[in-house]
Amino acid sequence: MAERYRPKWALVAHGGAGAVARGLLSSEQDAAYRGALSTVARAGSEVLAAGGSAMDAIETAICLLEDDPLFNAGRGAVFTAQGRVELDASIMDGADLAAGAVAGLSTTRHPISAARAVIDGSGHVLLGGEGAEAFARSRGLEQVDPSYFFTEERWRSLERTLSKLGLPIPPRPFGPPEADEGRAALAHDEGKHGTVGVVALDQAGHVAAGTSTGGTTAKRWGRVGDSPLIGAGTYASDRGCAVSCTGEGEYFIRLGVAQRICALVEYKRMGLQAAVDQVVQGDLTALGGEGGVIALAPDGQMAWSFNTKGMYRARIAEGEPLLVSLYRDEG
Ligand code: ASP
Repeated sequence: MAERYRPKWALVAHGGAGAVARGLLSSEQDAAYRGALSTVARAGSEVLAAGGSAMDAIETAICLLEDDPLFNAGRGAVFTAQGRVELDASIMDGADLAAGAVAGLSTTRHPISAARAVIDGSGHVLLGGEGAEAFARSRGLEQVDPSYFFTEERWRSLERTLSKLGLPIPPRPFGPPEADEGRAALAHDEGKHGTVGVVALDQAGHVAAGTSTGGTTAKRWGRVGDSPLIGAGTYASDRGCAVSCTGEGEYFIRLGVAQRICALVEYKRMGLQAAVDQVVQGDLTALGGEGGVIALAPDGQMAWSFNTKGMYRARIAEGEPLLVSLYRDEG
């Protein structure tokens, strides 16, 4: 049998899974999400095509997603029940299993950069809350007023969720939205989900994975989801694959979804698509969890799987055209 062509580099990105279905998004929203995903995938792929590392490609692509109010990460993140933004992110290098993560940031513009800085600058893997923010500041990472993250759409979604839960609505923390709310108004409420993630393969043959999120709307008590947890929402090993997840974090944590997929590839030598399907369509669905994953193996196999109506996603590889999809019935 002829050997499969191994692309020199590849990248897969997601912007969250959930109630993403034809008819639920307007044509403007559909076009805005497709445009954003293609810009991000191209920006990441340019880094890889120029010989940059998978880690650099991931940070570049996720910073763009964090700045885009369409996605629940960085600007445009969802609110906690107290009306705050608490941002989580993680990144992992499959070459040497180096990993960094942050949870509960509220003034660092790019949580993914803070997560990456944890690797070299802290001697730890996961930093949380005020300590994480102090660390990010000490590393010179850009700080912003919490109002920077505010979007009207996410605030309304908090009000709806709190009313449904019968919880009090906190006072609106910020003034009227800024002029560029135009784009933020296109943000689609995916229901409970929406997170961003990127997996990449570089020309040196290394894979890496990164994930960034505002978590879940109306989260309480310092809740932390799967996104900043290495093994749950993010994992990468050159011996297996790189994985980034989105969905109901509580289920992803309990299954160790990202590491579980990696282990199926590493120990069972399972094909990547079979591995992601087994965990998402099999284990996650059986446990009652909703969401999706993207994955990439060092031999260039790319895969995604989700059990929601849709997932914002894109893939591109050397020699292969960019593919951007939103709905279940697309590639
Ligand atoms: N997995 C994220 C969390 O639980 C949310 C999401 O992906 O929508 O925090």
